[in-house]
Amino acid sequence: MPLIETRALNKRFGGLHVTNNVDLALETGEVHCLIGPNGAGKSTLFRLILGEHTPSSGAILFAGEDITALKSFQRIRRGMSVKFQVPGIFKALSVRQNLEIAMQHHYEPAHLAEEIDRLLAFLKLTADAGRLAGNLSHGQKQWLEIGMAISLKPRLLLLDEPTAGMSPEETHATGEMIQRLNAEGMTVLAVEHDMAFVRQVAHKVTVLHLGKVFAQGSIDDIVANEDVAAIYLGQTTAH
Ligand code: ADP
Ligand code: MG
Repeated sequence: MPLIETRALNKRFGGLHVTNNVDLALETGEVHCLIGPNGAGKSTLFRLILGEHTPSSGAILFAGEDITALKSFQRIRRGMSVKFQVPGIFKALSVRQNLEIAMQHHYEPAHLAEEIDRLLAFLKLTADAGRLAGNLSHGQKQWLEIGMAISLKPRLLLLDEPTAGMSPEETHATGEMIQRLNAEGMTVLAVEHDMAFVRQVAHKVTVLHLGKVFAQGSIDDIVANEDVAAIYLGQTTAH
C-alpha cells in the first residue's frame, strides 16, 4: 500500500486547470523527486496534499485512508510535514530557540533538550545552536527549516525546492541529509530543479508539465527522454 497516493486529482483556479488528473503514488521509504518547468503546478500539488487547497475533484489517500476531506492540521497529526519555499524561521531567535518552539509541546520537558541536541547534530548545526537564525548562512537556514519540518518525526516529508539558492557544496550536503533521513525510514517527496541533487537522492522521478504527469521513471529514464528535454527549452532552471 502506498504511503501517499493521489487519484485523478484536479485543481482549477477559475479557468486555469493547474492540476490535471494527477495520479501519484509513493511507497513507504521512497525518495521521489517532482520536477517540471515553472508554473507546472508543483507547489499547488504540495498544497493539495497538505490540505491547504481543496481539490476540484479527485482523492488523496494517506496510508490507505481517504484524507481528501481532512484539514491541514489533521493531516499533519497523521504524520505529514512540509518545508515550503517561503522561509518560516524566526530570525531574531537562536537556532535552538527555533527548534524549541517547534518541539516544546510535543516532548516531555525532561527529554526536550536531548531531542534538540540530537536534531542539531543531525543538521550539523551543533556549533551554531546559540547563533541567531538570521545570522546563519543561506544553506544553514534551509537546514534549520528542514529540521523544523522533521522535528516531530513525520512519516512523509514534503520539500519544495530545498536547495534553491544553495552552492553546489550546500546542495550536496542537503542531499546527504536527505539520504540519512531516508536511511532512518523517512519517505520524501521533493520538488527540485537541481538535477545533480535529483540524481543523488531520487529513487523515482515524476515530471509535471501543464498540470499533468508528463513522464515518470528513474532519473536515467528521465534524462534520456527527449520529450522531457523539449519542455524545458526556453526556460531557465536556475534559481
Ligand atoms: P510550480 O510550483 O510548478 O512553479 P505552481 O503550482 O506555483 O507551479 O503554479 C501553477 C500555476 O497555477 C501557475 O500558473 C500559477 O500562476 C497558478 N496558481 C498557483 N496558485 C494559484 C492561486 N492561488 N490562484 C490562482 N492561480 C494560481
Ligand atoms: Mg513552486
